[in-house]
Amino acid sequence: MIIVLEKSATKEQMDYIIERVKKLGLTPHLSSGVERTIIGVIGPEDVLRVTPLEAFPGVEKVLPVLAPYRLVSREFKPENSVIDLGKNVKIGGKKVIIMAGPCAVEGEKILKEIALCIKKQGALVLRAGAFKPRTSPYSFQGLGEEGLKYLKETGQEFGLVTVTEVMDPRHVELVARYADVLQIGARNMQNFNLLREVGATQKPILLKRGMSSTIKEWLMSAEYILSEGNFNVILCERGIRTFEDYTRNTLDVSAVPSVKQLSHLPVIVDPSHAAGRWNLVAALSKAALAAGSDGLIVEVHTHPEDAMSDGNQSLLPEKFLLMMQELKLLAKAVGREL
Ligand code: PEP
Ligand code: MN
Repeated sequence: MIIVLEKSATKEQMDYIIERVKKLGLTPHLSSGVERTIIGVIGPEDVLRVTPLEAFPGVEKVLPVLAPYRLVSREFKPENSVIDLGKNVKIGGKKVIIMAGPCAVEGEKILKEIALCIKKQGALVLRAGAFKPRTSPYSFQGLGEEGLKYLKETGQEFGLVTVTEVMDPRHVELVARYADVLQIGARNMQNFNLLREVGATQKPILLKRGMSSTIKEWLMSAEYILSEGNFNVILCERGIRTFEDYTRNTLDVSAVPSVKQLSHLPVIVDPSHAAGRWNLVAALSKAALAAGSDGLIVEVHTHPEDAMSDGNQSLLPEKFLLMMQELKLLAKAVGREL
């Protein structure tokens, strides 16, 4: 932490700051120049972060040196984390993991129909929401526990790992009973009670980036889960809000290599919620893979025109097949497997 003093700071003000820093058990190092004096502080920054240093008379600004997250950082763990999703599927290694399926579980028959298609094309994980975060309370909210039952059954029948969203801390135990991977949706990225609750399980957690969250905030949310003892976190970039309204969101491709540099956790991309339209999904998926994404989560539907949510952005099986063929070629070119 570097404390920059105002040009007009007095000796008394400086001494007071040094005394306060020492009282916190940290070591201050004074450096006086012609224009400015700075105080470098060595030691755990956390204790200083909770001290409102900029409110001290004589302080101009405070510059943190270390990132506020610890357990998720590359410094804490230099090698990539490889997370076991169950059913012999691991994410974070050389193999790119494709997760696909409808936005929501709409019924048993249709889910199985879609599961069969995605399995045939090489997806290893079935996605489908039973609890849906909808903007309108009048929209389809998901089938709840009935949907979870269909999801589990379908996953078992086709040998697919299942991922589904949990929206409420009170439902964590319920959803964990049925699904292999728990998804924290964009709208709940900073629901800290929910993060703590899933952190208390050992389930793999798919943590989506909030639509208006910075990379630092996203990593801090992951830190919540790790700090509870669950290190099985997969980060998911799903597009952020920008001024552009042609697409539903703007895929932040740069978040992928950024997060790979900052953290040891696997990162995947959701091109469907980023684009909001099916005919952009393949291009965004290729961009994601080229940028170093460890996987993709894609909405696929056999009858998108009848989908109860997100039909516009869902790929028909034949489009998904074409995309998978292109991705296989690309994976080879970037030293990955698919
Ligand atoms: C979803 O994956 O179904 C979903 C609602 O995504 P997000 O939370 O990214 O909007
Ligand atoms: Mn959706």
